[in-house]
Amino acid sequence: MINVAIDGPAGAGKSSIAKAVSKKLGFIYVDTGALYRAIALNAVRNNVIDDKNGIVKMLENTSVKLQFNESGEQCVVLNGKDVSSLIRTPEISMGASKVSSIPEVREFLLGLQREIAAANCVIMDGRDIGTVVLPNADVKIFLTASPECRAERRYKELAEKGENVTFDEVLADVNKRDYQDANREIAPMRPCEDSIMADTTEKSFDESVEMIINIIKGECDERI
Ligand code: C5P
Repeated sequence: MINVAIDGPAGAGKSSIAKAVSKKLGFIYVDTGALYRAIALNAVRNNVIDDKNGIVKMLENTSVKLQFNESGEQCVVLNGKDVSSLIRTPEISMGASKVSSIPEVREFLLGLQREIAAANCVIMDGRDIGTVVLPNADVKIFLTASPECRAERRYKELAEKGENVTFDEVLADVNKRDYQDANREIAPMRPCEDSIMADTTEKSFDESVEMIINIIKGECDERI
């Protein structure tokens, strides 16, 4: 199985690029942020989003699964229900960043991520895939872009979905989330020694996809 880890901050284009690359290479795309988002959604529903002990207790009655349909699209299933369309709001983004700093939450989601990677050729995106989840991944990429560029992309995405936000709010959220994700004690977001750095600031979507395919092929050409 070929495992590709793509880590990096919010809005660098990880999910859309990884999705397109997976399709081209016939890999499964695994969006691990969706797992943290599902936990955050459950915490909001249970009124414990600001209560660390409450979140840890909640895990005893929480089940999170990823399912992949025939075209490889991922659904995240929380307590038996597909919640994929409910987890892309700014509230849940910030909630995911909160719950992700809790060691018990990270531990709770670790086995699931490793099982999927052991059984499939995957491109897995997140914050700690290269450092913690798949330290032996065949290819490790740290995908980034300037904060303004990332906020601009997120802003457009949210505006298209009709979310009522301003660019400045999105930029502030992006910066806050980066800070939280990079400075938490457990599994902070950072490149590994063997990560290949990829910057999408000056690149179009198609150019970014091509860059990532070239990196993957360069690292394990004979196996693809
Ligand atoms: O990637 P996405 O923006 O959906 O992730 C939401 C949040 O989940 C991130 O801000 C981060 O705090 C957390 N996360 C994480 N580790 C991962 C994936 C996401 O801590 N592997």
